[in-house]
Formats: sequence, C-alpha cells, structure tokens
Amino acid sequence: MFVSNNPLFGPGGNSTAFTETGHKSTVEAPAYVRAMGLGAYEYECGKGVRTSESVLRQVAAAARDHSISLSLHAPYFISLSGKEPETRLKSLDYIEQSLRAADVLGADTIVVHSGSVGLGTREEAMALSFDTLSRLCEFLDDRYAHISIGIETMGRIGQLGTLDEVIRQCKINPDRFVPVVDFGHLNARELGHAFDTSDAYKAVFDQIGSQLGDRYARYLHCHFSHIEYGKKGELRHLTFEDTTFGPPFDPLANVLVSEGLCPRIICESAGTQDADALTMQQTWEKASLSI
Ligand SMILES: [Zn+2]
Repeated sequence: MFVSNNPLFGPGGNSTAFTETGHKSTVEAPAYVRAMGLGAYEYECGKGVRTSESVLRQVAAAARDHSISLSLHAPYFISLSGKEPETRLKSLDYIEQSLRAADVLGADTIVVHSGSVGLGTREEAMALSFDTLSRLCEFLDDRYAHISIGIETMGRIGQLGTLDEVIRQCKINPDRFVPVVDFGHLNARELGHAFDTSDAYKAVFDQIGSQLGDRYARYLHCHFSHIEYGKKGELRHLTFEDTTFGPPFDPLANVLVSEGLCPRIICESAGTQDADALTMQQTWEKASLSI
C-alpha cells in the first residue's frame, strides 16, 4: 500500500502537451512530471501489457531518480464477472502480467476494472467476481504480495463498480485487494451532483475507513476527472474546462485538508491530465494554507 504524508497528484498516461513538446517515450515521463512539480504517474496498459522489460526498467530508473510514485492501469479487457469461465480464467493471466510489469516498474498498485453485469442480476455478476478474486489469490500464492491489486469504481451503470460492490470485493482478501475510487465515475453513474458538497466526499472515505480500516481511507488510490454522462452513466472523459458535468474538486480538497488524508490522485482528463493534476495539487495547497 502507498504511504505518503501528503496527497500526491499526477497524470494517468501521457498528455497532449507531453507529445507536443517533443517527448517521444514514457521513459521521459517521470522527469517531465517532476519538472511540473507533480509526484505521481500511472503507467497505462489499458490496451494490454506490451512494453518490453528493458523499457520498463528504464521507466523504473527514471521514476526512482525523480522520486515519482508509480502505479499501473491493467488492461481494460479484464473481466472478473465474465459468464464464460474461460474469459475469467484468462483474466487471471492478464492480472499476473500486469503485476509482473508493475514489479519491474517498482509500481505499488495495479488498477483493475471488474467487468459488466451482463444479462443476469448484479448479485450473480458479483458472485462470479468473488469466484475470480478467490481463484486469483490461489493462483498468485505469495507472488507479488507487495503490490496492491486495486479494484476501481466504474462509471457505467451496467458495469460492476459501485463503492459498495468494490468494498465487498476487497473483503475477499483485504491484504491483496484495495479500493480505487474514481470520483468522476461515481458521479457519472449517479448521473451528476453526487459530490457537490465536502460531506459527500467525506462519506466515501468514512465508508472505506469503517468497512476496511482507516489506512485504506487515508492512503486511498483515486482517479479524478470530469466525465460526461448520459442515462446509462459514463459517456466520455472531459477536461477541467468543463463546468457542466463535474464533479467539482474544491470540496474534495477541503476534506483532504480537514481530515488529514493523504491519497494519491491520478487525473485522467482527455489530453490535459498533467495540467489538471497540477490544478488539483495547487487547489489542495491553497486549502491547506487556509486552515
Ligand atoms: Zn480505469
């Protein structure tokens, strides 16, 4: 589990500005992120773990040199709740590949999506996910026990991934599984206005603290982006230019300060994830000076 005395902020993957300023490889990302004054970076393997071990080692060395905390986003095609046993068992391999890459990177957390509800009930899909997570623990044994497997809250109503569901999945083995709270996703699946107040944000941390333990809340791994939604939930990631869909970051900054919380917050804005992560960091800094 990630431990820091302050919240850490950073981008998920490389921004448009990173590419437009002539950067060609993610090996350059840790120096770029540090030069902006940020402290975290999430390595994107959403389309599969395809990076060579030698490149992963170079990213790891750069992250160490620039004191950047790394996490890794596992492939989107992982499904803990797939109806076909074969799909779910393949997911064990994809998670193991992600853990192996995270180990080389020196990343302390991987982020996994649960999968869709499918044609059955939510509880049937949850039961399938419990089975996959139990099998995963057996399959991994003690391997990669130093890397947390984060289960993410999801933005579409047809996906598993309410906060309640994620907490129940983590309870299968809280030594290995941790919640990853994507506030934009939760806001989208609630069709907006889920986080208009600091109390609404505080309730998330309180629920995780009371159900899993205070350190899970204090050092929570988070994603934060503005996300457009329709009647089925998430439609697409926006940037902080958006003022329609939200959620607003300011009330969260106030909770982080008043409760002394030290999460890692990864921004997944569409192209401006570095600048928007910096905006969040500066908002938190301002809030922490005002108490
Ligand atoms: Zn995700």
